[in-house]
Amino acid sequence: MILVLIDHDRGEIDPLSLRALTAAKKLDQDVEAVVIGSDGAILAGIAGEYGAKVLHVASHSAIGDYTPMASGRALKDLVAKLNPAAVLAAGSPRGNEQLAHLAAFLDIPMAAECSEITLGRPHNVLRARWAGNLIESALVHSQLLVATILSFSTEPQSLGGPAASVVQFEPALEPADSVVKILSRDAGESKGGVTLNDAKVIVSGGRGVGGPDGFGNLEELAALLGGTVGCSRVVTSSGWRPHAEQVGQTGTKVAPDLYIAAGISGAMQHIAGMKNSKTIVVINTDPEAPILRYADYAIIGDLHQVIPALTSAIRAAKG
Ligand SMILES: Cc1cc2nc3c(=O)[nH]c(=O)nc-3n(C[C@H](O)[C@H](O)[C@H](O)COP(=O)(O)OP(=O)(O)OC[C@H]3O[C@@H](n4cnc5c(N)ncnc54)[C@H](O)[C@@H]3O)c2cc1C
Repeated sequence: MILVLIDHDRGEIDPLSLRALTAAKKLDQDVEAVVIGSDGAILAGIAGEYGAKVLHVASHSAIGDYTPMASGRALKDLVAKLNPAAVLAAGSPRGNEQLAHLAAFLDIPMAAECSEITLGRPHNVLRARWAGNLIESALVHSQLLVATILSFSTEPQSLGGPAASVVQFEPALEPADSVVKILSRDAGESKGGVTLNDAKVIVSGGRGVGGPDGFGNLEELAALLGGTVGCSRVVTSSGWRPHAEQVGQTGTKVAPDLYIAAGISGAMQHIAGMKNSKTIVVINTDPEAPILRYADYAIIGDLHQVIPALTSAIRAAKG
């Protein structure tokens, strides 16, 4: 049996978890899922639809919002009870963190960001290294495989199954397990309520935007297209935009229908976060910018002229 951690934010599923469920189904074994926190119990329907027969729900008074060490402890308890062949989760920062705690509690290795898994003795995984520029074939010698699934390496596949049956359990947590917890949150949503994770269109700006004021044009274009604004790390480290908008290796990994990269050179750490976008449009003054290798369409020009021109052309087309 394969156990899949479905990550959720106060009952709202992380869609990358559906990819982990699909990756688990491909291993030709029964799949069961687990959510941490009782507000995840409402995900029994979607867990079943994507192939899980059972949804284990870890409930405890110390588990409220995200508590990654408590997740690791709860998973450890469940592993002892169910003895799965593998525990999988999405290769998101939260998925990686929670499974890292599980692996540390069990004193076994964890394979992060796997694009392929072959169970065996030892297990064989292909995993992304160096921001996806190197694919490593690795052998994992532990009996239990603890692994996360590389974002966007597996398309989520609905199997239309019935809701998973819910089994509640109370993990034996220790006080230290809730040392790391969320104390407060900043509103991480962009204007219009569309976040980087769910946006179909992202208009992303880099150093070439020139400063925080330059992002007004990008916001206008993004709003017109029903999307949101992203940016490179130079932009967040300069304090022009919040970190929640950073795309890349140390930001959010995205795969929208349309990614417009304006004034971004295409460092590998940025490419790692957006190369799975369906259509990439580059706006850059430099015809040799590395990001052009990934472009479906390129406009060589000054973004301060090109973006307003695009915006007014789209407005005119929309009437
Ligand atoms: C460990 C590590 C992790 C990192 N993680 C990330 C990450 O998650 N995300 C990320 O983005 N980076 C990340 N970086 C940083 C990365 O290496 C680059 O420094 C960064 O992506 C460069 O940002 P940029 O493309 O905006 O700036 P630059 O590389 O300076 O590029 C600016 C581009 O704008 C163009 N330009 C200038 N003026 C205009 C104009 N008027 N109109 C049109 N084009 C113009 C230029 O031709 C150039 O191509 C990381 C680095 C490290 C070491």
